[in-house]
Amino acid sequence: MTREISQGRKLNLGQSNSAEPVVMIRCRECGKLNEEDSRFCQECGKNL
Ligand SMILES: [Zn+2]
Repeated sequence: MTREISQGRKLNLGQSNSAEPVVMIRCRECGKLNEEDSRFCQECGKNL
């Protein structure tokens, strides 16, 4: 029983990771890809 539960969790985690949409914003200054909700570039600190 416990084995089945742990396997199910692993499968669910894998699916959520692959299906999760990732939106990135490219910095105009340095070209660094930052997460959509980022206000400043992680590389150079410029406003996105
Ligand atoms: Zn930048």
